Amino acid sequence: MISVGVTTFFFIIVALPVIVIFFSWLYVEYTHKTKQTKPESQIITRCEICQFPFLHDKDDEISKCPRCGSYLEFK
Ligand SMILES: [Zn+2]
Repeated sequence: MISVGVTTFFFIIVALPVIVIFFSWLYVEYTHKTKQTKPESQIITRCEICQFPFLHDKDDEISKCPRCGSYLEFK
């Protein structure tokens, strides 16, 4: 039989899962934030044909409406 101290036992039962969950949370937060778009690079615009609001990059001069597929020109 394996003999462990009380401190080691509680570390394995309590602290180890907490540490694993913490680093899993950090990993998910990091990977999720890298996929998000930067809000300052995109602006909300409304389609002139179907009035559907959507995000488009403010550096793009032409954008395609995700709903009706019409092309919109921005200057
Ligand atoms: Zn549209």
